Amino acid sequence: METNRSCKDRKPGRRGFLKQAAVLTGSAVPWPGSRALFAQATKIQTQRLSDKMLLVKGPDSNVLVADSSEGLIMVDGGHSDWFGELHKAIAQNFPGRPYRALFNTHWHREQTGSNQPLGQQGVQIIAHENTMLWQSTEVWQRWSGITFSPLPAVALPGTTFFDDGMIRLGDRKVQYGYMRNAHTDGDIWIYFEDENVLVTGGLVSNRRWPELDWSTGGYIGGMLDSFVSLLSVPNANTSIVPAYGDLMTLPELRAQNQMYLTIFDRLHGSFIKSESLAEILLEKPTAEFDAAMGEPTQFMTLAWQSIQGHLRDPQSTRLLKLP
Ligand SMILES: [Zn+2]
Repeated sequence: METNRSCKDRKPGRRGFLKQAAVLTGSAVPWPGSRALFAQATKIQTQRLSDKMLLVKGPDSNVLVADSSEGLIMVDGGHSDWFGELHKAIAQNFPGRPYRALFNTHWHREQTGSNQPLGQQGVQIIAHENTMLWQSTEVWQRWSGITFSPLPAVALPGTTFFDDGMIRLGDRKVQYGYMRNAHTDGDIWIYFEDENVLVTGGLVSNRRWPELDWSTGGYIGGMLDSFVSLLSVPNANTSIVPAYGDLMTLPELRAQNQMYLTIFDRLHGSFIKSESLAEILLEKPTAEFDAAMGEPTQFMTLAWQSIQGHLRDPQSTRLLKLP
């Protein structure tokens, strides 16, 4: 295996400090994207991108599977709710092929449902260091009220990195890039240069707002910075796999970047006028995008809240308090 210099490998099963707390479900706000609404919908769709690549579109996230000379490489593993359907589809498309590696583009459960079963098979799990850290501890997601228990040691990424790099897996050269403070603080993109396929990670959802998880480092300003990194990768012929929804083209990705710039501009203007969240929502700052992206209240609330942690009282060094 070839990795960049900042890539770290860990032996599984040595994280004795892990807390094995049970999942506590607190007073969860019934957000449109919450798990309860996905409970019955486990229908998946598959799409062949080539004879060695498969896109699986699940009810809450996408999974890309690429075959290599050493076995299957998964980029994200879906939610455990539809693990059975996912791996049945993979087995039908790649009969008899073993699993070689699994990337987590971030820590959310919609991406990490295959970690434990594949980790138990000794499959190499790869992620940004921050993703591994969130997965290895209890996370209280303040905006949803949900507390996520740590993953068991065997399900944690054993290969982590801090910055952009490349890893060789069999005959595949897989490039990855870090998007600092995007929709979490561990978001990465993955690029298969040989087939010109880019997986965006959680920054990009197609026809649905992303869950801007400021509890674990997401920030709308960081999303804009991250588009700069992401847009440096594709060309006009790249197949772009968002975290959710249909494949995208480069013009569609650029249009999303422009959309978030427009929304950020409007939010910024509202902050200068000291408007409340309720006032901002009444002004409908996403109006022209809602037909494509859906009801915006959750996204705008999270975007607004994500800015609070970056504000300082100019008279003080203390952070302003979140209302
Ligand atoms: Zn996510």
